[in-house]
Amino acid sequence: MIIVLKPKISKREEAAVLAEIRKLGYRPHVMRGVARTVIGAIGDERTHKSLEMLTTWPQVESVTPIQKRYKLTSREAHSANSTITLSNGTVIGGKKFVVMAGPCSVEGEKQLLTTAHAVKKAGATILRGGAFKPRTSPYEFQGLGEKGLKLLAKARKETGLAVITELLSEDHAKMVAEYADILQIGARNAQNFQLLIAAAKTGRPVLLKRGLSMKIEEWLLAGEYVLANDNANLMFCERGIRTFETYTRNTLDLATIPIIKKESHCPIVIDPSQGAGRADLVVALCKGAAAMGADALLVEVHPNPAEAWSDGAQQLTLDGFARLMEELQPFITAAGKE
Ligand code: PEP
Ligand code: MN
Repeated sequence: MIIVLKPKISKREEAAVLAEIRKLGYRPHVMRGVARTVIGAIGDERTHKSLEMLTTWPQVESVTPIQKRYKLTSREAHSANSTITLSNGTVIGGKKFVVMAGPCSVEGEKQLLTTAHAVKKAGATILRGGAFKPRTSPYEFQGLGEKGLKLLAKARKETGLAVITELLSEDHAKMVAEYADILQIGARNAQNFQLLIAAAKTGRPVLLKRGLSMKIEEWLLAGEYVLANDNANLMFCERGIRTFETYTRNTLDLATIPIIKKESHCPIVIDPSQGAGRADLVVALCKGAAAMGADALLVEVHPNPAEAWSDGAQQLTLDGFARLMEELQPFITAAGKE
């Protein structure tokens, strides 16, 4: 921690700060400048009490932590990339680029199975589909619930695709984990810490979306809840944040790819569908994400987007998705993946 003292404080006021630093187990190192004094408090911020309360002292100008607040998710904790292996053999975070695709919501057997077979044929290895939907309005389609989960299980059995689906409530953690290979924590719940703990405790891999107005540090700290609850299989998913721009539904922050790679060992997944909110932008964003070194994509695909029960404007058609998969390869190669 770096503690900057206010100018013109007395020796006694300085000594009180030094005593407090020592009392909390840090070793103070005093640097006396022309106008003011700066104190470096040496000690492990992760095991010692924080010195941040010194900001309330009248003689202290500022207190700046040096170490990162996230520990287990940080690259410092684990220098190699973490990989997540699913029971169908898909590895997320490894050499191979992974595509998760499927409808926004599970609507019925025909819709889901048609989509599952099509995305599998095109090269996806994970099927997405919401059974519990976090809708902005309570009057919109809320998802088929357990019936939707059963359809996802059927699609997995028929196709060999792994399944990712959203967990909305702690009460459903056990049930959703029975059907899903990956639990998705949605943007609206990204800082629902009890839900994150419940998801972690199921032992299933967790995909953590970035919240609508979540800073990267907050996102990493939310991820910390998963790792701190004995679940090492965490991946981050950028899905756009809210900005002043209304041309797109959200502003997809592709800078999170190199940032998460730099700060964390956990895989980074990009969801351009919620990110753009418009199908015509999804292909370009997928290519960009692949070229920038994302580990995986989460893409919404529907047999008839115009009639979708949720997020119709942003879902690719089955043909559109097949074309995307054909066009994606050079961008995957450019990033050094297969
Ligand atoms: C979704 O994936 O359909 C979804 C609701 O995502 P988000 O939580 O990112 O809005
Ligand atoms: Mn959606």
